[in-house]
Amino acid sequence: MVSIPGPSVIPDRVLAAMNRPMPNIYEGDLIEVSFSVQDDLRKIARTERPVFISVSNGHGAWEMAISNTLSRGDKVLVLESGTFAVGWGEMAEVSGVKAEILSGSDPDPVNPEALEERLKADVSKEIAAVMVVQVDTATSVRNDIQAIRKAIDAADHPALLMVDCIASLGCEPYEHDEWGVDITVAATQKGLMVPPGLGFVFASEKALAAHERADLRNGYFDWEPRTNPEQHYKIYCGTPPIQHLWAMREALDMLFEEGLENVWERHRVLADAVRAAVEAWHAPNGLSFNIASPESRSNSVTTILTGDVNASELRRIAESDAGLTLGIGLDEFVDRAFRIGHMGHLNPPMILGTLGTIEATLTTMGAPMRESGVAAAAAVVGAAL
Ligand SMILES: *Cc1c(COP(=O)(O)O)cnc(C)c1O
Repeated sequence: MVSIPGPSVIPDRVLAAMNRPMPNIYEGDLIEVSFSVQDDLRKIARTERPVFISVSNGHGAWEMAISNTLSRGDKVLVLESGTFAVGWGEMAEVSGVKAEILSGSDPDPVNPEALEERLKADVSKEIAAVMVVQVDTATSVRNDIQAIRKAIDAADHPALLMVDCIASLGCEPYEHDEWGVDITVAATQKGLMVPPGLGFVFASEKALAAHERADLRNGYFDWEPRTNPEQHYKIYCGTPPIQHLWAMREALDMLFEEGLENVWERHRVLADAVRAAVEAWHAPNGLSFNIASPESRSNSVTTILTGDVNASELRRIAESDAGLTLGIGLDEFVDRAFRIGHMGHLNPPMILGTLGTIEATLTTMGAPMRESGVAAAAAVVGAAL
């Protein structure tokens, strides 16, 4: 069992949907699937606006968002809350954009008041875009995107709001249009239950207007040729990612069969089960949450600090002796944290199996534990059945 925060478990239905020979790519079924996938992805991001698909991982979608909306010399404000928004900002810098980091106080979420203050100080409106993640997969913090939008509005600032939802789309409630997001970036392999290989960029009217002026536009990622429905081949700037489109079609069917709100609720319940386990395990010198405030803990991944327990050793034993692969601690968390991915195709036996195996590993290591995390998690799951 793999319980890492992406790539997540691929459902058998999705794997089976990919297992088909090459079709006619100029007309027929594949073209219909391609357009239906685009329409339905927009329902997942809750937008009426277009989605652009990059044949890449999430980093490619980051680049697609940057190159289509920004120009050399522009400045972006990166809202730090872990690793990922900063990485996105660094990519913008490589493209010739100036990236200013609004430092966060890890492990807290982005502070909307600090953002409002910084934007108010930008009297010449130099900042072209604000970059933030909804969920940072390293720290497992969830940022409040609505509060961030309100802060931008309160400062009366024209910057684009660009949100990385790679670790949260299909897991956490999200409303691209209603929340006034300009760019939403997502990818297949986390909450969307499809192997890595496609990135998605959702754009607002304002982002499409910025595209008209953007001078970072390039040959491959440029949105312009990708908008003509009569020229399907150009939508992907070449041969369509056939297997991934079939996979995405099946995954979207599964999400709609369950109902998107039910999918969000399932993630919340299973995340609550993980959190109940961590709380029960918590003991002096033992395990604890990385994110202190309960309302900022994400429903797709949990970063667990391990105190005196060696996190690498814990992961090694869990994997080699019990067949459970856990997420590594990223950056400063190596050896002192591990992560449980609870995103995408996940149900109670899977999460209870993961938590039970962690508890067995802690037991064999003689790690300090207050009480059984499995019992606490089962109580949460049971109450929601
Ligand atoms: C996984 C992830 C990425 C990177 O996606 P890749 O597909 O590995 O390029 C970016 N941002 C967040 C929040 C992620 O979780």
